[in-house]
Amino acid sequence: MTDRRTIGISLLSDRTTERGRLLEVEKGVLARNQELADANRERFRQLGLLVLNVVSSPGSGKTTLLGRLLGDRPDLAAAVIVGDLATDNDAERLRASGAEVVQITTGGVCHLEAAMIAGAADRLRLDDRRLLVIENVGNLVCPAAYDLGEDLRIVLVSVTEGEDKPLKYPRMFKTADVVVIHKIDLAAAVGFDRDTLRANLAAVCPQARVFEASARSGAGLAEFQAFLDERLARGTAARG
Ligand code: MG
Ligand code: ZN
Repeated sequence: MTDRRTIGISLLSDRTTERGRLLEVEKGVLARNQELADANRERFRQLGLLVLNVVSSPGSGKTTLLGRLLGDRPDLAAAVIVGDLATDNDAERLRASGAEVVQITTGGVCHLEAAMIAGAADRLRLDDRRLLVIENVGNLVCPAAYDLGEDLRIVLVSVTEGEDKPLKYPRMFKTADVVVIHKIDLAAAVGFDRDTLRANLAAVCPQARVFEASARSGAGLAEFQAFLDERLARGTAARG
């Protein structure tokens, strides 16, 4: 008769093996994604593009901010790849800004992968573009793990979301080059605690440049546009 302890141990070791196998699969997927992301980055570098990967929770205002930025600045000559679980509503909204837009509908996948970006880039005319903006699926978890070949990872956090977002999603914030505190025009109305969010950002992602902006009021947009201009100029200088 097998005693219960033995059964317990064998179940435990089965589970450990299964988890180990899943980890191996995940590592393989991420390693393959990294190869494709590196290829994307080289392709975009040769095209002379500055590439942004914009991530946030759903509802932080990615599409609204991008629509306003690109609408105000047609000289940025932007192309946009927008990812959503379903619908092409955001692509339609962004097209109104004058940018060339391709929608990726992931059909339930909650992040974009480098392979999807390569396929979407094939559908865009990129040779006369300066800026490629990727609007990721609204999600602060797995997009952290998937390099898409971007130059800058931009994380939006809106004032309506709570000041502890960086503490709850450290993996995402740790990979940010830029954090935009969005909907800043609502700060007073929602009792936003700027000092606490700023302190949390400084603790989790001291490497990130932080901007405050509102697509609706236009606050802070000039600073962010100046930053993009500086990065675009730097890219041009590097290419000689
Ligand atoms: Mg959107
Ligand atoms: Zn995902």
